[in-house]
Amino acid sequence: MSQTPRVLIVEDEPDLVRLLEFNLQQAGFEARSVGRATEAVKVALAFDPDVVLLDLMLPDGSGTDVCRALKTGPTTRHIPVIMVTARGEEIDRVVGFELGADDYVTKPFSVRELILRIRAVLRRGEADGAAEDVTTFGRLRVDRTAHRVYVDGAEVVLTALEFRLLSTLIERRNRVQSRDALLSDVWGLQMHVETRTVDTHIKRLREKLGAAGEYIHTVRGVGYRFASDPGDPGG
Ligand code: CA
Repeated sequence: MSQTPRVLIVEDEPDLVRLLEFNLQQAGFEARSVGRATEAVKVALAFDPDVVLLDLMLPDGSGTDVCRALKTGPTTRHIPVIMVTARGEEIDRVVGFELGADDYVTKPFSVRELILRIRAVLRRGEADGAAEDVTTFGRLRVDRTAHRVYVDGAEVVLTALEFRLLSTLIERRNRVQSRDALLSDVWGLQMHVETRTVDTHIKRLREKLGAAGEYIHTVRGVGYRFASDPGDPGG
């Protein structure tokens, strides 16, 4: 991350843009804004932000499309995305999650809370960067620098959240992780997430990992444990 973290604001409400730009600059960030979905990716490529604040409702398209474009672009896929949703856009929230958004705030939000979330997302990115670069475990290879996962040599595309979940489990292998611990460490400051969400994401992660999904063991009534070694039968 650069010394002055860069925040790209994708938002079409001029008053909100001004408020965010002012407060982010006061908080030590460099901020730039773009108001149209069709220009967001181009600006992201040029500005190379450390985090993107992405409004869901843009005049010429949906923030989910922008999120999808960012999270599938080879040079933008690692940039954390915080989606900004209005009340009543719960369905899009779920879609955004599946597309790999890293966090959400719901309008109206306090700028102070938003800045806390930006800092949390940036800290998670730094922690990922500081960790060991490549972990090979049986059929599974996790490359933290490139944010890529391979099973039997074939790449498995994970969302940013799934990647973080897998990285957290594998770093703490053979140690049981409670749902609450995973929520706090993987989901961070998202207070509205239910513990059941962990199960949903573990299920999806296992499905994506195929044969390597067996390394994630369920510990009944507690949470999850990544295998101690690839032959660990679990239980
Ligand atoms: Ca809007």
